[in-house]
Amino acid sequence: MEFIIRSKALYSTWIYYKPDRLLFDVGEGISAALGNKIYSIEKIFLSHSHVDHIAGLWGFINTRNNAMGSREKDLEIYYPKNSKNITEYLNFIKSMNRHLRFNLSINEIEHNDIVELKNNRYLKVFKTRHTPGEKSLGFQIIEKRKKLKKEFSNLSGDEIKKLVQEYGKDYIVEDYTKKIITISGDSLPISPDIIEDSDILLHECTFIKESDRKLRNHTSLDEIKELLNQISPKKVILYHVSSRYNRLINKVLKDLTNEFENIEFHIVHPEEISII
Ligand SMILES: [Zn+2]
Ligand SMILES: [Zn+2]
Repeated sequence: MEFIIRSKALYSTWIYYKPDRLLFDVGEGISAALGNKIYSIEKIFLSHSHVDHIAGLWGFINTRNNAMGSREKDLEIYYPKNSKNITEYLNFIKSMNRHLRFNLSINEIEHNDIVELKNNRYLKVFKTRHTPGEKSLGFQIIEKRKKLKKEFSNLSGDEIKKLVQEYGKDYIVEDYTKKIITISGDSLPISPDIIEDSDILLHECTFIKESDRKLRNHTSLDEIKELLNQISPKKVILYHVSSRYNRLINKVLKDLTNEFENIEFHIVHPEEISII
């Protein structure tokens, strides 16, 4: 299990990524749903200030402070720079929970910022296109890796061993980065340049039928397909689906799997918690 996700457009969205102990958005109902797992979360990233993405934060902080668990574990929150609504909300939460047992660090982030994670990974922030006048962000988890330098690729195992003995391991390897996960937040389609080479794509897909979309601030299924004709992640998780499509989810999943054979698809059902 890598992800636990709850997402129903306009109601609640939160994405728990277990390997790096990260939480993306904090829609309502999260604490009751995750129970003791809330103590394993180390960093929270908020994509924007819409209430379906932040309403659960007060409960989360309060529960983490008072329920039975590791109440002293530090918690870091990251949110879009200069978001007045989130700043006020965080101030309210702090004033309602004056005696926190844990260190709460609150940080502003913006486009291109980097947050170091554990295990040679870091998170990169990118801006998204959502509601005018509302800062919204997407997130990418990137891993720092090493590979054999090209000039040594034809050498045998023994020859490489010899080089390592003589010059050290760093002599034969070079650094590169690998995009692991891209998360869209609420947005119109993310640019293929950003997603490219990402193993896993979590993209919002509020509208399954293009004709239902009145304002251009969310993504439709047609746009997702257009995107997947240009890039090919190993795994695609669609979330933030409107509950008007509850009965279509299984069919859409089947159709996508048929159309894009090399991609593993998941759609977060608006009425269910998905474990992926
Ligand atoms: Zn939303
Ligand atoms: Zn939104």
